[in-house]
Amino acid sequence: LKLNNRYYKCYVSKFPFGTALFFVDITAAKNAEKMREDFFSSVSHELKTPITSIRGYSELLSEGVVTDPSLQHDMLEKIQKQVDNMSNLINDILLLSRFDNDDIVVERVPVNMKSTVEDIVSSYESLCLKEEITIHKEVEDVNILFHPQQMANLLSNLISNAIKYNHPGGLVNVNVYKNEDDLFIEVSDTGIGIPQEDQNRVFERFYRVDKGRSRMKGGTGLGLAIVKHIVSFNKGKLTLTSTPEVGTTITIRFPNI
Ligand code: ADP
Repeated sequence: LKLNNRYYKCYVSKFPFGTALFFVDITAAKNAEKMREDFFSSVSHELKTPITSIRGYSELLSEGVVTDPSLQHDMLEKIQKQVDNMSNLINDILLLSRFDNDDIVVERVPVNMKSTVEDIVSSYESLCLKEEITIHKEVEDVNILFHPQQMANLLSNLISNAIKYNHPGGLVNVNVYKNEDDLFIEVSDTGIGIPQEDQNRVFERFYRVDKGRSRMKGGTGLGLAIVKHIVSFNKGKLTLTSTPEVGTTITIRFPNI
């Protein structure tokens, strides 16, 4: 039974004095079910795109239609890229499902921010060259008690977005600093920005402002959802400010433990 956008289940009980109807509000369960269904349908959809492309290219190659070796090479590279996309997607889904099931093992150790940022930034060197992006870092030589993989995941999602959604010749700034109470991580870019109405939604699973651009750059659509989980798991606070065609800044504050 649906009433004023809420769902009720009706139970009938017979008593010696008559019959009673009980209505139980099942809106929360219904909403959770709907979210699960939406998630699975998005995942199937996201997997269909690379699978279709892999099937297409591999059929062409196996039928011997393409004889030019350089074309064959291009197609194999496209297949590899799609395989990488699928594997990133599956890793992201597994991580999110571990957050959903509270199945995260926390081993917090001192993580040095300077060397972690160095490592992540250098792993994006070739992407920066390709996209003509310069990264500036201002990172204090400080430690934070954190799960190393979570910190790497958080930084690489923020930094890769700042590169992917930028313009050729654009800048990315990574600042990390500490005060007595908190550690701040700030990643800003001079990129395409995020329209006001999308600024909250980009943290939803599979929400993208520009689907074509995200897919072309190999995005899973789950990066910021993962960032949000990592931040709240570690009792942090996240703020996003963005102006279309000017750029985006994401600041995260963690209690300094
Ligand atoms: P994706 O894999 O698509 O990058 P994310 O969850 O990391 O997924 O980001 C969701 C969407 O938010 C992106 O598709 C993009 O539209 C937008 N976005 C994220 N970071 C930025 C940024 N720095 N500048 C502009 N848009 C961004």
